[in-house]
Amino acid sequence: MAATSATTASGNSAPKYFEIPFFASVNENFNKAAVLLDHPKGLLDQIRVCNSVYYMQFPVRIKGEIQVISAWRAEHSHHKLPCKGGIRYSENVNQDEVIALSALMTYKCAVVNVPFGGGKGGIKINPKNYSEEELERITRRYTVELIHKNFIGPAVDVPAPDYGTGAREMAWIADTYQTFVGKEIDALGCVTGKPIPLGGVHGRTEATGRGLFFGVREALNDAELMKKINMSVGMEGKTVIVQGFGNVGYHAAKFLQEGGATIIGIIEWDGAVVSANGIDVEALDAHRKTTGSITNFHGATTVKQGNSVLEYECDILVPSALESQITKFNAPNIKAKIIAEGANGPVVASAEDILLEKGILIIPDMYLNAGGVVVSYFEWLKNISHVRFGRMDKRFEEGGNFRLVSLVERMTGQSLTPEEKNMLIRGADEEDLVNSGLEDSMITAYHEIMAIWRTRPNVKDMRTAAFISAIDKIAHSYFQMGIFP
Ligand code: NAD
Repeated sequence: MAATSATTASGNSAPKYFEIPFFASVNENFNKAAVLLDHPKGLLDQIRVCNSVYYMQFPVRIKGEIQVISAWRAEHSHHKLPCKGGIRYSENVNQDEVIALSALMTYKCAVVNVPFGGGKGGIKINPKNYSEEELERITRRYTVELIHKNFIGPAVDVPAPDYGTGAREMAWIADTYQTFVGKEIDALGCVTGKPIPLGGVHGRTEATGRGLFFGVREALNDAELMKKINMSVGMEGKTVIVQGFGNVGYHAAKFLQEGGATIIGIIEWDGAVVSANGIDVEALDAHRKTTGSITNFHGATTVKQGNSVLEYECDILVPSALESQITKFNAPNIKAKIIAEGANGPVVASAEDILLEKGILIIPDMYLNAGGVVVSYFEWLKNISHVRFGRMDKRFEEGGNFRLVSLVERMTGQSLTPEEKNMLIRGADEEDLVNSGLEDSMITAYHEIMAIWRTRPNVKDMRTAAFISAIDKIAHSYFQMGIFP
């Protein structure tokens, strides 16, 4: 579905296919959970509202002309600091969207036990229309605006990549911040998703897709849940369609394929590719890098109306492009048994009722795509502690393992091959620790959500259970602050 936009008097724009504004849709889901809880109304109101939004317009010289750029940063909740959330570059960014996404970040951080409030930023541009130099100028100017209004800083608000941005933009932000606030010892913690030499952490780029894989795997291995939706246990052979072959979609497809699933469809903005025999994700990525598009890939059939593939038969549908992709118009035609939300808000509230009625399991965004913020949290910890994960203990661990292996060899009189020895002795490096922390965070959060769903008969779906998990934790923070008795 093409994202056409309607511009309002305030300069905001919203895609026309929104049935209700995105933030209202998030709040509708919030309210479904809130009515099941006993918290005071004022507390629920405080949790629901967006604490602050900064709307800015600034001039940037583009191809010899001055262009006025519109941008936002929303800090949804200050119950824990810093605020945390990505920055997206898209023509369709508007204030409502940024606020809605910042709200999702608040709930997401709470669900996966990351001690941050929610934030989100957006610049209203199509990055494809600008040269690298122009994008750098826009990004640096945006960062200066954030610095001047105290909307960025390792203890205040920490952006990260999102739709249309990546490590390159995060590097520009970090460099600009350091230039202006040079004396801050923790300055590099002002943004996450940075390149490794600039304080990034190994495993951040693929973290959201990897986290999605852990979450889907946990659900597929949950025999009670699988029985409920009439599916066999395990990932092997499950058919998957992925919408969006960007950071989240590509990595999700890659890890699901490595885990034994069969990727039968991938949808991009300019068309989709489908193959019942499975699509080789790495080969498709190589094809896209050479031709600039996933279409006309030799290993699959191209479908021009890409989003029609959302309605194809499959076990798991992974929308990982943008919000509002499944609406009340296409929801009745969705045939997947599981919708695994890689993107933020891909299913609008009215579509959700139709999908749940059909018995489809929706694994909600605020849990399933939280891998990025979990690893961003690790990156921030690395930046403020000024030490690489594994630096203190890797060799010590290897020494202990070596002594243990030598002892076993001596006692049994048998020798291991050098490969076996290396595997047993090797100490954990940064990437191992990051991936292990991510896996643990996703598994822990899954069981917290499922415990709520299983023990409260009035909770009908996983999103409501996730909201309850988030609201209870945020409410607890307010209680601790003594703000609400
Ligand atoms: P990205 O820019 O890397 O990738 C998005 C992809 O979707 C692009 O390849 C784009 O061409 C494609 N796309 C755009 N419109 C489409 C359409 N109509 N149909 C099919 N494909 C389309 O962005 P990303 O970082 O992968 O983010 C994708 C979604 O995941 C967003 O909703 C974002 O908020 C969410 N998310 C991202 C992260 C992260 O760490 N990057 C974390 C959590 C959530």
